[in-house]
Amino acid sequence: MEKRWKYFAAALIAFVIAEGLAILGMSLNGPDVTVLMYHSVNQGVLSEIEELSVYPEEMEKQLKYFCDEGVKTVFATELPGLRPRRGERYVCLTFDDGYEDNYTNLFPLLKKYNCKATIFMVVGYTGMDGYLKEEQMKEMLDSGLVSIQSHTVFHDALAREGATAEDIRYELGESKRLLETTLGQKVSALSMPNGAYDDEIMDVAKEYYDVIFTASDFAPFSPDELTDIHRIGIYRRHTVDDVRRMTENRAAYLIKRSLQKLAGK
Ligand SMILES: [Zn+2]
Repeated sequence: MEKRWKYFAAALIAFVIAEGLAILGMSLNGPDVTVLMYHSVNQGVLSEIEELSVYPEEMEKQLKYFCDEGVKTVFATELPGLRPRRGERYVCLTFDDGYEDNYTNLFPLLKKYNCKATIFMVVGYTGMDGYLKEEQMKEMLDSGLVSIQSHTVFHDALAREGATAEDIRYELGESKRLLETTLGQKVSALSMPNGAYDDEIMDVAKEYYDVIFTASDFAPFSPDELTDIHRIGIYRRHTVDDVRRMTENRAAYLIKRSLQKLAGK
């Protein structure tokens, strides 16, 4: 009888270990695509939120790291067909809002390191002080290193109280149409402003876009979940070592973030 219990206990332990390794293995060997979210790249602070401006020298260190490690950069619009093979690593660099420093500070670095980036433009801000101009967007597109996608027409309009069905359709549909006609490129990706949306907004968004970024949080990228993609936010406080941890040892980062979440951080 006692012997049977020993066998049972050993089998149970083996099962728990095997399950643990399987979960860890899935996190380590799942699709190796990390999606990062940036905003402004600036020595000074452009946005009212200081955290949103990443130092240009930090940006350069991060691009150099991807370059040195052979991590391939992909556009947001390339995510649907992406099936990484074992050992391949990908990063999707996204920049929200369309700050002009994406042209003055980021673009030269993209050329230097041959990295691709996706800029989510607030179309109604085009040419406004501190935001990208049409010629700058066109020049970046011509390089083949930048994709310009939609971040709606006026950023906060979707979440505004009293926003009508027409408002929603305008923000989502017109931003795509304007970008496609002025820049002559296909627009199929959307970054939801502030990650704020409801079922109605999402239903309309899916009519226009194949790839939709919603939350800024850590979640492993899944090729089967292209209309609710979470991104890891990179802010002023982050260094290249943080980015290394986020993209290299994702299982450990996932566990750490889960524990922080449990602790309410
Ligand atoms: Zn935004």
